[in-house]
Amino acid sequence: MFQQHLRNSGAALSFVAAFTLFIGMSTATYADALSPDKIKSAISTAYDKYKDLDEGAVADYIPALARVDPKVYGIALVTVDGKVYTAGDLTTEVSIQSISKVFTMAKVMDESGTDAIHDNMGVDATGQPFNSIVAIEQYKGSEMNALVNPGAITATSMVKGKSYDEIWNKIIGYYNDFAGRKLSVLDDVYKSEAATNQRNQALAMLMYAYGHIKGDALQATDIYTRQCSVGVNAKDLAMMAATLANGGKNPVTGKQVAKTENVPEILAVMSTAGLYDDAGKWLYKTGLPAKSGVGGGIIAVSPGKFGIAVISPPVDAVGNSVRAQKAIADISNALGGNPYAVQPRYYYCTARLRVERAFF
Ligand code: GLN
Repeated sequence: MFQQHLRNSGAALSFVAAFTLFIGMSTATYADALSPDKIKSAISTAYDKYKDLDEGAVADYIPALARVDPKVYGIALVTVDGKVYTAGDLTTEVSIQSISKVFTMAKVMDESGTDAIHDNMGVDATGQPFNSIVAIEQYKGSEMNALVNPGAITATSMVKGKSYDEIWNKIIGYYNDFAGRKLSVLDDVYKSEAATNQRNQALAMLMYAYGHIKGDALQATDIYTRQCSVGVNAKDLAMMAATLANGGKNPVTGKQVAKTENVPEILAVMSTAGLYDDAGKWLYKTGLPAKSGVGGGIIAVSPGKFGIAVISPPVDAVGNSVRAQKAIADISNALGGNPYAVQPRYYYCTARLRVERAFF
């Protein structure tokens, strides 16, 4: 009886010791990687390093984008517990452009389920530019994704609503919830793109011809153009990314915006296609689901840890901001943001085995 008691309390003690050791070590690693000082220093190092970088050029195929100041440079990181860290320009708004595609796709998933996206335009990288006609022709509008123009316009056409206004209000309301504030359309960008988006109209008509867009393809193109013209600063974008990092719940307002169960699918498409034909190179360097826009923004998500965004308008040949790619990669890698970068469990296991062998 007494021995039994000793055995029990021994077991309990060893359990408590092992548990404390485990929790202590995991929190130490986590806290160390994401301590405020470390985040601040990673951000300011990257900010300074790329401040004078002179690579890339502002997109000019949309006339209003050619007029954007190439010097705008802002960084923001929002952790899943709602702490905000920033550097540089946080007030200038650029047009969200293709980053919007993530959130419209998420809206369709919320309304119609993840299969609706999978079964309509698909979830595979095209390996082609974002406005490629070849990418449609190859598989008759299937086997692509909602983050390239034809798939994105199709996703916009899938948002439910009886009128243009009803659909638009749903889309902008959803973006507002992600950003945690009321966003507005940059009217000059919208007008400029609407007057010159004949190629997107052609992509939409092809998607209609192949049966992917069911309703009014030109209305869908116009709503898509409007969604691309929403103005955002670096903090807005980081908040939107952090909401995805936090299972679809805005970490500052506390509002559940996207369904948590859809977040893995959203992040999967961002991983394979978020940076277009350079998505593979990006994933190789960072491991992060991300999305770029020709306005100069990039968002990236470290699941369960943080969302990060950089705005810097000069883009490379593919359409991805040069500074944003470099700064986000440096910051995330300095903070252990790559979800594929795991430490071996060897040490914990050995410690647990020793404790178990000694007491059981
Ligand atoms: N509105 C832009 C377009 O349709 C978006 C492209 C982008 O950001 N890559 O061309």
